[in-house]
Amino acid sequence: MADATVKNNRTPHILAIPYPAQGHISPLLQFSKRLQKKGAKVSLVTTKFIARTSHSISSSFPLLTISDGHDDGGIDSAESIQSYLDSLRRFGSESLREVLQQLSSSASPVNCVIYDGFLSWVLNVANEFEIGKAVFFTQSCAVADIYYHVYKGLVELPLPDKEIEIPGLPPLKPPEFPSFIYQLGTYPAYYDVIVNQYANIHKADWIFWNTFYELEREVLECLKRIWPAIRTVGPSIPSAFLDGRIEDDRDYGLSFFNPNGDASLKWLDGRRKGSVVFVSFGSLGAVSVKQMEETANCLKNCKCQFLWVVRTSEAAKLPRDFMAETKERGLVVSWCRQLEVLAHEAIGCFVTHCGWNSTLEAICLGVPMVAVPGWTDQTTNAKFITDVWKVGVKAPADSGGVVGREALLQGIEEVMGEEKGGEIRENAVVWKASALKAFEAGGSFDGVVDEFLAKISSRF
Ligand code: UDP
Repeated sequence: MADATVKNNRTPHILAIPYPAQGHISPLLQFSKRLQKKGAKVSLVTTKFIARTSHSISSSFPLLTISDGHDDGGIDSAESIQSYLDSLRRFGSESLREVLQQLSSSASPVNCVIYDGFLSWVLNVANEFEIGKAVFFTQSCAVADIYYHVYKGLVELPLPDKEIEIPGLPPLKPPEFPSFIYQLGTYPAYYDVIVNQYANIHKADWIFWNTFYELEREVLECLKRIWPAIRTVGPSIPSAFLDGRIEDDRDYGLSFFNPNGDASLKWLDGRRKGSVVFVSFGSLGAVSVKQMEETANCLKNCKCQFLWVVRTSEAAKLPRDFMAETKERGLVVSWCRQLEVLAHEAIGCFVTHCGWNSTLEAICLGVPMVAVPGWTDQTTNAKFITDVWKVGVKAPADSGGVVGREALLQGIEEVMGEEKGGEIRENAVVWKASALKAFEAGGSFDGVVDEFLAKISSRF
């Protein structure tokens, strides 16, 4: 189908409803561009706070807002994570219902909602209307497989101190499970939201996943038996970094932070090919003071040049004088265009917290990783980076969960070096090609998108 089939000569209208965090908004927006390209109208639904505070929101998506009950301060103004998630569910449901009601009598009623798996309550609201329901997952299939087995009570909790077998996955040691499972009770609110997202998934008409078949083949085969509606639509990253098919598609279309121009890229321009260590711990996690100190010390003693993203909210944790002492060899920025940075030929390796987007981005751009996972799904992603795809090494943490300066330095030297590094770089090239193939194959996007748009246009 060249363009979205039009029932009653009407362009299908889809609401994209991401969980309000950078790492959840970006991949869903990216997928939405594919739908737009095929002729659908996609409106982005986000919280009032995010709509007001974000940078460079793409004007190609009509923006609709809902409330999370914290319109002025977002999650940081909530008493606790639990109270924020409760409030998001309560106020989000009410305001989404109003949005759907208003649109139902407009010239552009909604055919379908695509909502983040973390927002399983959207399905209940959508059920009150005659519209399609598609759930979009922004974490790996491997972690979903784990959470699903936990949800079903098929994993002994607390985890026993031995390797554990789950269908579709390599045997996992307890610390390789998502932190919410391994360190049971640390974030009960997130545990509830994530584990219970599988309670109503079977009621969704479509299940989209930001991954690609080759990357997670075994686990996908298992999950397809549980949820036949699964469709992989990843890697959900801008086209310019893969096949370049969509002109000017260089960023996701919404950023929580300001990258402050091209300072990072200009700085990289003057560096030798493969010489720079890029360090970033993502968009939301707080790094401990000790971890900042160890990272800083490692970079100070490392022979390589480095580019380190330290968000403004984390900057006070940097050791005093660090920037002055290292200014000849390194640059610290509060945010950067990470995709552009990873694509820069000066980058030699990526010291990453292993968020799923960062992991996919590094795989797509063929950048070897040093895994420094913190919490949530990062621990499991790190396992796959090192032992399954073999595109990086993990810098081990001490008993207090801190990766010490020597351990980090050793990881960087291994990845940047010849022996192990050479093998890792070769694997990274192979996975990069595989990601590109998945992206180009069309199977990931065009076929799925055509089928989806045809169905929502004719049924709703
Ligand atoms: N990111 C960015 N600039 C930065 C740091 C991060 O654009 O300086 C982006 C990165 O490209 C990724 C997202 O922020 O798309 C982080 O998502 P991820 O899933 O890796 O981790 P999270 O922030 O959710 O922990």
